[in-house]
Amino acid sequence: MISPAFTCGSCGQVHDGLPFAYSMPAPAYWSAEMAENPASVLGEEQCVINDEHFFVRGRIVLPVRDADEDLEWGVWVSLSPANFSRMAEVFENPARVHEPPYFGWLSTVLPGYEPTTLNLKTNLHTQEIGVRPVIELEPTGHPLAVEQREGITVARVREFAEIAFHQ
Ligand SMILES: [Zn+2]
Repeated sequence: MISPAFTCGSCGQVHDGLPFAYSMPAPAYWSAEMAENPASVLGEEQCVINDEHFFVRGRIVLPVRDADEDLEWGVWVSLSPANFSRMAEVFENPARVHEPPYFGWLSTVLPGYEPTTLNLKTNLHTQEIGVRPVIELEPTGHPLAVEQREGITVARVREFAEIAFHQ
């Protein structure tokens, strides 16, 4: 879907296209020097830090009440070693859709939220093969959890875009 250009509330310029998806390339705890350390690995879907912290990539979906599209945050959550192994074991197995949810700590700082989104409690829901897991926030009063439950509007999507274009 082609998103319309919009006039930016931050700089007054017209920016091309309003993004409805963002994705973070690594967990918040990752740093470039870790790539030198064989005990730390950053992949497309998984990340291990120092052989003791285990992260996977997932999606937080926020319904947009006045648009046809949802907003998606591509995020990282940390899993227990047991769940991380289990997830890898069933990664190529179509029956993985029957996995119970895995508990995960959100390991991404999303822009536009106060207090921080780091270390919010989540559940990871495994999807069919080829589809990244869906991350469900613990139903608290945190603004991100509220937005996942109640949805957002295009005005909020624009706020995210203004932050992203001016970072
Ligand atoms: Zn701007």
